[in-house]
Amino acid sequence: MNLWETDRDIAEAIQGELKRQEEDIILIASENYVSPAVLETLGSVFTNKYAEGYPGKRFYRGCEWMDRAESLAISRAKELFGAEHVNVQPHSGSQANMAVYFAMLKPGDTILTMNLDHGGHLTHGHKINFSGKLYNVVSYGVDPDSEMIDYDQAARLAREYRPKMIVAGASAYPRIIHFDRFREIADDVGAYLMADIAHIAGLIVAGYHPDPIPLSEFVTLTNHKTLRGPRGGMVLCREEFAKAINRNVFPGIQGGPLMHVIAAKAVALKEAQQPEFKEYQHQIILNAAALGERLKSNGFRLVSGGSDNHLLLVDLREKGISGKAAALALERAGICCNRNLIPFDPSPASKTSGIRLGTPAVTTRGMKEEEMKLIGDWIGEVVKKIDDENAIARIRRETAELTGSFPMYQCIRD
Ligand SMILES: *Cc1c(COP(=O)(O)O)cnc(C)c1O
Repeated sequence: MNLWETDRDIAEAIQGELKRQEEDIILIASENYVSPAVLETLGSVFTNKYAEGYPGKRFYRGCEWMDRAESLAISRAKELFGAEHVNVQPHSGSQANMAVYFAMLKPGDTILTMNLDHGGHLTHGHKINFSGKLYNVVSYGVDPDSEMIDYDQAARLAREYRPKMIVAGASAYPRIIHFDRFREIADDVGAYLMADIAHIAGLIVAGYHPDPIPLSEFVTLTNHKTLRGPRGGMVLCREEFAKAINRNVFPGIQGGPLMHVIAAKAVALKEAQQPEFKEYQHQIILNAAALGERLKSNGFRLVSGGSDNHLLLVDLREKGISGKAAALALERAGICCNRNLIPFDPSPASKTSGIRLGTPAVTTRGMKEEEMKLIGDWIGEVVKKIDDENAIARIRRETAELTGSFPMYQCIRD
């Protein structure tokens, strides 16, 4: 490989990361493994091209193949999601959200979003994020008993604060989101509804989660989570908002589009149109349910009691350890996850009382319910024996043996 001659340090970093992704059990709910075809597209000469503007309306010459690829990404996304208009240029999910806010809101306008401590995203109004600085943010959360979204509270807050936009969507919510309830609440107060389906886009296109697209003026998503594409975002909207969205993506908040990423989005969207993709999404849900059951039989409490989707939130308070300590010990055992706040968490975000686990990546590897049982038991053992380095080293060997029998990316090894 040429990179080994040009830059040994980075070549080593890539090799090390490939090995880590192959050997670890990746339970980060927002991560996945893209296909070799998506990887190849990301590493293509498309990265060399400036293509400011949109297909047929570029500021630079030489965009024939750019137009071809971006048009394919757009038409595939429209078909897959059943959307009237799609912008495939946002560099990330955050940029997709920013584009919608900038298109429809003025600084100081009120937005009603999910409480970040209950599973909302930074772009839903974190005080250091642009969203929290520019807008007046009012938050709904989950009910303290059911730990499911309190739609009545959202309705009350909407009536009291008259938001210009309601954002429905989350980064750490294990249950179905009832977008129809949010539509009613938005209609009641004349607000726009933006559904942020960053995490659940794959489940939605496969029919395993209620579809917000017919119900919402705007839908934003990331390509790299359950949708299993390259890092990046998209905005879907009704035709009447097409111009405002396009203008606010470019030149509003971005310059030249990442054409290699857009081409890779097109490839991933084609993959998502195949029948196997639906089976894959179904298995993600079956795996999350199986992992949840096994964790419960290992004495863990799951926030809301379980999961309807691809992720689980585990409450560690009864185990007497923090989310931070658990995630560090699990990493030593070859299980990669993240610490996460649980609703009404008494601990700060730097420590937390919970961990978030997701099954999209392990499901891509081909793991099924039987493997989820092993993983659930390992998590139980690591948490129980958190100071026993011998036990953790033994589990590390066992997890490596499991991942060894579900190989990844053999085709890109020399
Ligand atoms: C991941 C996520 C985003 C944004 O993703 P980035 O690509 O990391 O900017 C936005 N909203 C929600 C709900 C998310 O989970």
